[in-house]
Amino acid sequence: MDLSVVIPCYNEEESLPRLVEVLREVLPPLATDFEVILVDDGSRDGTLDLLRATAEADPRFRYLALSRNFGKEPAMLAGLSWARGERVAILDADLQHPPQLLAEMLPRLDEGYHQVVARRTRADDPVVRTFLSRAYYRLINRLIEVRLEDGVGDFRVLTRPAVDALLSLGENNRFSKGLFAWIGFPTAVVDYENVSREAGATKWRMRDLFNYGIDGVVSFNHRPLRLAVWFGALMTVVAIGYAAWVLVDAIVNGNGAPGYVTTICAVVGFGGVQMIVLGVIGEYLGRIYVESKRRPIFLLRESSAGPHDTPVTIPLGPDRLAR
Ligand code: UDP
Ligand code: MG
Repeated sequence: MDLSVVIPCYNEEESLPRLVEVLREVLPPLATDFEVILVDDGSRDGTLDLLRATAEADPRFRYLALSRNFGKEPAMLAGLSWARGERVAILDADLQHPPQLLAEMLPRLDEGYHQVVARRTRADDPVVRTFLSRAYYRLINRLIEVRLEDGVGDFRVLTRPAVDALLSLGENNRFSKGLFAWIGFPTAVVDYENVSREAGATKWRMRDLFNYGIDGVVSFNHRPLRLAVWFGALMTVVAIGYAAWVLVDAIVNGNGAPGYVTTICAVVGFGGVQMIVLGVIGEYLGRIYVESKRRPIFLLRESSAGPHDTPVTIPLGPDRLAR
């Protein structure tokens, strides 16, 4: 198999017909043979019915259905672990990742690159969001040891060795942007004009973006724990200094301790610091808890290979399902 195209779909019944149409047109000239792997991430609309019908009508389209909504990262992983291609592309279902761009991306793999990433311009994003994400990437690149780039997402093509490297990472908490960067390999970037969604609605809310931001920092190292230690130490020094000053002031100048304001400030201030530090520790503890359960990252309920009476999971790593 020359090319696999992996597409996670969650409530995408409005985008799918057009997507399939575009892929049928765009893919044949790009590969000697290809397969499209559509992954239904527990959609509640007619997505799965559409996938069944599509796979039935055209065997180049295969599908997987997860047992519930696991999120985009697990859906992507399910698709990747099922892909048989020597080259694998990952696309969104909503045509925001124009499949036409693959014509520009795929040839770059022949130049010796193992990953080709599409980077979108932020031309018509809201100003505030652009500003926030620029600031975030500047900060996060100081904090973590892999390099993350603004505007770069999951729209990319990978060679077989890169896909296998990705599948060999067994963590449950998958911050895919970081994982793609972590596996390394020579990577090329192709720019494209940002496209807005053709149909349906985005499932991202502002809150999700913030949580995604925290994931980015915490899933890649424990530097925030170190920061917490420094912060705590700094506050302790400030408190001791202040106490010494009040004491000296009382002895030398005969001033009494300046009342309850200081007490309240100290109590509230330290309370805040302690909560922050506990929160940081909790983030890591939660992750350890999740990882230590060693649960599968997704469960399948059905695929174009047939229905599954009991949910199954595709083992990751070298003993994966026969391709
Ligand atoms: N998606 C998914 N599971 C989810 C949420 C989204 O598989 O829980 C898929 C969705 O169908 C789409 C892609 O992930 O193909 C990107 O989602 P969306 O367009 O909502 O995100 P945005 O483009 O706004 O970042
Ligand atoms: Mg989208």
